[in-house]
Amino acid sequence: MECKNLMEELVDMRIDDLMGAIDMCRCPQCREDVKAYALNHLAPCYVTSNKGSVFSRFTAQTAQHQAEVASILIRAIEIVRKSPRHESAMQQV
Ligand SMILES: [Zn+2]
Repeated sequence: MECKNLMEELVDMRIDDLMGAIDMCRCPQCREDVKAYALNHLAPCYVTSNKGSVFSRFTAQTAQHQAEVASILIRAIEIVRKSPRHESAMQQV
């Protein structure tokens, strides 16, 4: 048995195509910033699962949360796109 945050699963599922649809930096720093912002603004939804059967058992909850996750991700992308934090990190390298 494994305890998972369903919201994090949903964020991971959508983040790449939503970021890909917008003209923005896709470096790991920006991706993690988008993810962190989104997860900070979504109430966690912990579920237990074995062998990744999260979605089959929680389909109703998943459908309910998907729109919410997408709208928070779009907001997170806008914020990170306007003020990316990668610049200071990259200067150090
Ligand atoms: Zn970046």
